[in-house]
Amino acid sequence: MTFIKNAKLVTPESVIEGALVVQDGKIKDVGYTGEIPAEAKAIDANGAFVTPGFVEIHLHGGGGYDFMDATEEAFDGIAAAHRAHGTTTLLPTAVACPPEQMYALFDMYRKLKDKGCVHYAGLHLEGPYISMEQKGAQNPTYVRNPEKAEIDELLERGGDIVKMCTAAPELPGIEYLASEFKKRGIVLSVGHSDAIYADVEKAHAMGFSHFTHLYSNTPTVRKINQVLYAGVREAAYLLEDMDIELIADGCHLAKEVLLLALKVKGADKINLTSDAMRAAGTNVTESFLGAKLPENRVIIEGGVAKLPDRSFFAGSIATGDIMLRWAHKKCDVDLPTAVKMLSLTPARIIGLDKCKGSLEVGKDADLAFWDADFNIQKTMLCKEI
Ligand SMILES: [Zn+2]
Repeated sequence: MTFIKNAKLVTPESVIEGALVVQDGKIKDVGYTGEIPAEAKAIDANGAFVTPGFVEIHLHGGGGYDFMDATEEAFDGIAAAHRAHGTTTLLPTAVACPPEQMYALFDMYRKLKDKGCVHYAGLHLEGPYISMEQKGAQNPTYVRNPEKAEIDELLERGGDIVKMCTAAPELPGIEYLASEFKKRGIVLSVGHSDAIYADVEKAHAMGFSHFTHLYSNTPTVRKINQVLYAGVREAAYLLEDMDIELIADGCHLAKEVLLLALKVKGADKINLTSDAMRAAGTNVTESFLGAKLPENRVIIEGGVAKLPDRSFFAGSIATGDIMLRWAHKKCDVDLPTAVKMLSLTPARIIGLDKCKGSLEVGKDADLAFWDADFNIQKTMLCKEI
């Protein structure tokens, strides 16, 4: 039994002072104020805020690496960079690429999934089945429609390790993708999509339950034959049981966008994500979006990656601590709510909320410790306590 004492424990509802009691990596009590037995192990939090370790379901890279590098060094480097800033569970996220490259990533994930300094909870495929019009920074060479033979092979090779798929529901062939992915419990997310409301409504009926980085590569109301049609953003608000993801790096979205989303959807339906690229957790001023090729060069400036001519953002470099400070300090969201959008809500979206995402009895003790300004002090995985 371990007692983490003198802690400010951030639960989904409030901040509780007292001790967190952990046994065999599981939380036994939250806010214990009794005697700590002399023979028990005690960790003094010295008044730190203790939150659940963050759950990041959309993450490409960090520490100078991208998961598409598909090397052990890349996995370890990214995991270490994000863990050092509060994240303890993550979904390595792939972009549109040739099938062979995807399968190389599958092989590396299989080899490393139980070895990291974080918990890996499956892969997130952000593409290749996305809209050419809303591809954003993805390489158009590899953007394509879902075809039965390719979907069958993808699932044969990785159906057990893919946890989430971002796709554009207006694409031909999406019905087959949706029904096959759904059978395997893969979370379907609308993203990089040029859909109007009717397309998203159909997708919802097919099992799509989430929206990937709402406001980025997701259109709003548009005029077709003089009529104004609701787009993906409005669909996200109208379809009440669907979840949304917002890029919370403090650069992509203004405060009011988060406040609007909170008012309409509530924190139980909002996941704050980094969608971070390889420069996250580093101090570099130049990096690459995707593969390390000259044409992929980007600059890092003002806390975000930009194209060299500064015409567009080229990815986020956020880590958990940056997102927490943005939501809580800059947007004035109360602490339990901000933490929930970084831990319990994403855990629930991928079906992990029975064991992760909050300081509640029976859950895994994956923890992050924070000072009064929400700088990270340390993280612990349940298996290390
Ligand atoms: Zn992404």
